[in-house]
Amino acid sequence: MKHVIIIGGGYGGVATLRRLAKDKNIKITLIDKNIYHFLQTEGYELVAGTTPFDETIVNLQTLCGSYRKPIEFIQQKVENIDFEKKELICEDETLIHYDYLVIAVGSMTRFVKSVQGLRECSHGVKNLNGAFKMKQFFEKELFLRLESPQQAQIHYSMVIGGAGLSGVEIATEMQYYFNRYYKSNTLACNVLHIHLISGSKTILKGMHSSVIQKAEKRLRQLGVIIHAGSHIKSVETSQVLLENGKNISFDFMIFTGGIVPTGIVAKLDVKRNHLGQIIVDTSLRVPYKEGVFAIGDAAEIRDKNNKLIPDTAQVAIKSGHTVSHNIKRLIRHKKPHVNRIKIKSLAIALGGRYAILDLGFIRIYGLLAHYIKKITEKLYKYPLWLRCRYGFKKIESCKL
Ligand SMILES: Cc1cc2nc3c(=O)[nH]c(=O)nc-3n(C[C@H](O)[C@H](O)[C@H](O)COP(=O)(O)OP(=O)(O)OC[C@H]3O[C@@H](n4cnc5c(N)ncnc54)[C@H](O)[C@@H]3O)c2cc1C
Repeated sequence: MKHVIIIGGGYGGVATLRRLAKDKNIKITLIDKNIYHFLQTEGYELVAGTTPFDETIVNLQTLCGSYRKPIEFIQQKVENIDFEKKELICEDETLIHYDYLVIAVGSMTRFVKSVQGLRECSHGVKNLNGAFKMKQFFEKELFLRLESPQQAQIHYSMVIGGAGLSGVEIATEMQYYFNRYYKSNTLACNVLHIHLISGSKTILKGMHSSVIQKAEKRLRQLGVIIHAGSHIKSVETSQVLLENGKNISFDFMIFTGGIVPTGIVAKLDVKRNHLGQIIVDTSLRVPYKEGVFAIGDAAEIRDKNNKLIPDTAQVAIKSGHTVSHNIKRLIRHKKPHVNRIKIKSLAIALGGRYAILDLGFIRIYGLLAHYIKKITEKLYKYPLWLRCRYGFKKIESCKL
């Protein structure tokens, strides 16, 4: 029986697992440094306090325990990979042998080194720990304002560096959240300001012009202050300096200006692109490393026309499907298939019950787009939660 190891139980790793779990002739091990899969696509709601944290996670141990055939889950950080010996080196120095390996370790915030003070003075939102800390910070800030009328009059500014998908979603959701408190007169949130900084001339660079226009309009309507067309030059404890000379004071800064693969990828003896992502072939194999695949944010994925595909959960899931299919083919001594990954749609949450859904040939705005996005998120997590509940029962009954 061939042993497939998946490193990383995020969108890509879980998608690979779900497809391979149906094959009786494969032994699967999932390794993740955390016991949970953080649903980053709902991270903006967690930060804004509109979704409880337990609704943004899927437990990997109970998920693995839910399948008929045994799937091993190991909570460990993988430190390195010996491609010659086909072995993983874990944090506790355990060595684990594989026949096929899927590297699905995702990414982390890219704090641009040339921007002085950025790493030290701003926060990322790529993991549950960071998002959770931010949520607690804002809730405490609002509570202090509720307690003291003097405190409630003090201006409070939050800066979001980076106006891509995650920056825009967080800005709109947080502003919507502040406005809601203000309208209900519970707090003087009219002195809370959100500044969104875009290095490009527009927000949501690369997206359809009408998506950009609508999103900008929504941000302004909510009261978000947009600073477009100037990169961040440096960051100090409580102010950010832009290249155009503008200074913005802040109490809290979030940076969402880009991603780099997680630490382990930089240690591997593989070819990487300028962002550090693993370069894979058309079947998502890592060249010259037998039986090794890389997927999701950790890899540079191109479509059949060699065009770069943006790093999204959707792409991570689809790349997981491609890889599971190709592993099954290789085990049966068949040629792997070329990936046919295409982005069919993109949904952007813009605060409250407003979203934009871009289907390529048509764009839907407002309430309908919001509900479609919500249904898509639920269709992803509910089947996983159901599995987890079943897995939990199975694990508990084994203990008796
Ligand atoms: C705020 C926000 C909003 C977003 N909104 C959207 C959206 O609306 N739509 C969309 O499609 N995409 C969205 N994205 C992007 C999307 O979340 C990512 O593209 C997606 O998570 C990538 O999936 P992945 O499987 O590659 O990595 P991840 O989901 O990040 O999973 C990687 C896993 O690897 C584990 N890991 C890392 N290193 C190690 C190691 N050394 N050893 C063991 N385990 C390790 C991690 O613990 C993690 O569980 C958003 C991202 C953010 C931050």
